[in-house]
Amino acid sequence: MTNLSLATDFISSPLLTVPSKAKTTKRTYLDTRVTKTHRDNKRTRSQRARERLQTKGHLERLANELHEPELADKLRRCHSRLSVLTCGRHIERIIPNFTCEFRLCPDCGRRRSRKLQNKYLPMMRAFLRHRQVTPVHLVLTQTHRKETRKQSAKRIKDAFTKLQRRSFWKEFFKGGTWSLEFTKDKNGLHHTHLHIIGFRRKFFDIELLRSEWLAVTGDSHVLHLKPIQDIAAGLREVVKYVSKPLDIRRFGADDLREFLKLKNMRMFGTFGDFRDFCKRFDPSDNDGDEASELEKANRDLTEGCACPKCAAPLFDLRLSSDELLRFYEGIESSPPGKVGTS
Ligand SMILES: [Zn+2]
Ligand SMILES: [Zn+2]
Repeated sequence: MTNLSLATDFISSPLLTVPSKAKTTKRTYLDTRVTKTHRDNKRTRSQRARERLQTKGHLERLANELHEPELADKLRRCHSRLSVLTCGRHIERIIPNFTCEFRLCPDCGRRRSRKLQNKYLPMMRAFLRHRQVTPVHLVLTQTHRKETRKQSAKRIKDAFTKLQRRSFWKEFFKGGTWSLEFTKDKNGLHHTHLHIIGFRRKFFDIELLRSEWLAVTGDSHVLHLKPIQDIAAGLREVVKYVSKPLDIRRFGADDLREFLKLKNMRMFGTFGDFRDFCKRFDPSDNDGDEASELEKANRDLTEGCACPKCAAPLFDLRLSSDELLRFYEGIESSPPGKVGTS
């Protein structure tokens, strides 16, 4: 499924009313994205690792084409040597020798996405415990115009800022997070979406939100809203757009050149009451959060500790990225079947 057909699905899809208990049979934009995520997750680790290597090779070639030798060199070195904490069957932690921090690098994108999840998940859970709110995933879109990616992003972010100032928004939402998603249609026009985890105080008619969005954008009313059942999965879903802005393997040199101009643009942020809550948040207040305790225990593992999945002792392995790929393949092909994930 290409970005193009996803975007078309989205525009033509009926909007869900809120709250919606009825199952909708027609596949909507968001449903398609979710289905796609599930399919992505079914690919083996070695397949995903191979794709990341191919993506980086492609980016390195484009960087050379654009006469950006520094970027090409950084991409080549990024995650090329790895320190792997493993029992031989399960991998608990991978520490790279060098990270390029380039926004389109798939390895650094995964790290950034994990960092965002580790940072914001405890705050979201605490916020949900302390406030009478329901998390929702809101997708805001805008009409397509002939403009640069940067202009397109600025236009939708400005509209969202205006939306937050309106009394409707203040009545029904208590802040949240936003992230930008970029796609392009066959005519080369940019589609920029805002993915928002919004903390909703009470139900409202979706038509009201549509008219509010139309009022601030002037010409867009297309949006999608869906309650989030599992906040960890909801957060994972929206940070995905930060770590994987586009299908990079279809990128040309021009796309990369344009992306290099976006260097300092923010792709993720918090807003409203949730933003203030994050500023004051003290992790030690979060004792009631069993899930975060578990995450902490996993981070403290070192060589000689028992593997949490099979109790065998953990040891450190130094591998190149190609060796890691073969290591994954070895784990996947050796019985018994079930392979753990870190
Ligand atoms: Zn990198
Ligand atoms: Zn193990």
